[in-house]
Amino acid sequence: MHYRDFGNVNCNGNGNGIGNGIGFGNSNGNGDVNGSNEKVNGANETIKMKPMDSELLREQGHIMVDFIADYYKNLQDSPQDFPVLSQVQPGYLRDMLPHSAPDQPDSLKKLLDDVTKKIMPGLTHWQSPSYFAYYASSTSVAGFLGEMLSAGLSVVGFTWQTSPAATELEIIVLDWLAQLLQLPDHFLSTGNGGGVIQGTACEAVLVVVLAARDRILKQVGKTSLPRLVVYASDQTHSSFRKACLIGGIHEENIRVLKTDSSTNYGLPPESLEEAISHDLAKGFIPSFVCATVGTTSSAAVDPLVPLGKIAKKNGIWMHVDAAYAGNACICPEYRKYIDGVENADSFNMNAHKWLFANQTCSPLWVKDRYALIDALKTNPEYLDYKVSKRDEVVNYKDWQISLSRRFRSLKLWMVLRLYGSENLRNFIREHVDLAKQFEAYVSQDPRFEVVTSRYFSLVCFRLVPLDADEDKCNQRNRELLAAVNSTGKIFISHTALSGKFILRFAVGAPLTEEKHVTEAWQIIQKHASKFTCNGNC
Ligand code: PLP
Repeated sequence: MHYRDFGNVNCNGNGNGIGNGIGFGNSNGNGDVNGSNEKVNGANETIKMKPMDSELLREQGHIMVDFIADYYKNLQDSPQDFPVLSQVQPGYLRDMLPHSAPDQPDSLKKLLDDVTKKIMPGLTHWQSPSYFAYYASSTSVAGFLGEMLSAGLSVVGFTWQTSPAATELEIIVLDWLAQLLQLPDHFLSTGNGGGVIQGTACEAVLVVVLAARDRILKQVGKTSLPRLVVYASDQTHSSFRKACLIGGIHEENIRVLKTDSSTNYGLPPESLEEAISHDLAKGFIPSFVCATVGTTSSAAVDPLVPLGKIAKKNGIWMHVDAAYAGNACICPEYRKYIDGVENADSFNMNAHKWLFANQTCSPLWVKDRYALIDALKTNPEYLDYKVSKRDEVVNYKDWQISLSRRFRSLKLWMVLRLYGSENLRNFIREHVDLAKQFEAYVSQDPRFEVVTSRYFSLVCFRLVPLDADEDKCNQRNRELLAAVNSTGKIFISHTALSGKFILRFAVGAPLTEEKHVTEAWQIIQKHASKFTCNGNC
């Protein structure tokens, strides 16, 4: 393939990657991705593409690191240039970019200019210190460097042989993390179980649903699939239903058990017990329960101790989805929320949510690795190798849906090593303290109420109803949310609990400090005055 040489594009920037449209660091380099590659076509000045040129990587890698470092600096120093929630309209980008891919190479400088001017406005800045929506997707320097190293090395460790270090590091690092979480020994690689890094919690729940399904079908026969029933609370993440449907569980056999404020939206064990008895009486086969520690709506905690006992008694696979709150359980004071995990068959948390391991990194541990492997193994000749036999090595392709996989353990290893667990614990504690502070602000303002008990770094709150009118109250809260987010100064999200429209304030972005929480509260208060004067303003 030949490209025209664009010559030396000057990318002598001033180091400000954002806001001024320059977008470059201090490199004197050639902004063209073809760099100083060999010219092969003299007169036409075409050059041969070299996709991985180490010197060009060095030069442009520095430019890119500067660009990203400037991004983080400017997020803090010039927040006015970065509406936290993107304010663009749907389709905004189509008219800003050409309608087809370029035939000839462009320069990195021009490309980064476009990132600054065209892409940045369409970003919601998840790493802004004033991001308080959903749950955070936390980044760190160690996580970033881990991503960089993993992208740079670009190995594909689907079997042990395809990169022994990738497999072996994953086993070791997940044992480390399991120990920090004080998971029972059977989840460690030295037992019958072990850990695997999935991309997301959605993938984690899918693979364990498949493992649980196949485990039970082995006992009762494949034709019993239509009789399998599964359980979860009405607060369970939507990925559970999706996983069950993909796994062939009949939609009408997905039991969604009701929760309410009396248990702070945790699943009452009696409901599970009752549902199981009812199903058994009707000839159904209870096969799976998904318990959550830190639900998506309100960070509710299902009581693992009684749920686990019920699951064990009935031979049901219990999965614990601790995508967000599982991270906090590396702190001894939060570990109690996963008491009862001893009776779980699988446990999952998202280290990219609150352990600073950059997207994506979702460790999953299973009690019986063979249940997972039996459901997911493949054995094509082209992957066969003499040490790839059962038990000799781990072949992670058999623990996940896809064949190819990223070297994610490198990133997790770097986060754990470069920060140390004590720092990680303290950082999580700081976030929880900031959430406590926000909760105190809300509690002190009679126009507002905290709606659910706060366990971690999420505060669920709302404007209180006026004249006991819940419908109007929902509408006012909806309008308050829109008003606050349209400022671009902060981003909070919402949910619904027992028919109430609830505002969610989740602390977890790595740059958030006390001043950002205080400013956020001031913005919310200011806008609240529009909705709290009972129609007289
Ligand atoms: N489970 C819970 C409790 C969550 O809060 C979330 C996302 O916030 C998920 C699952 C889905 O996570 P992922 O995007 O990693 O699939």
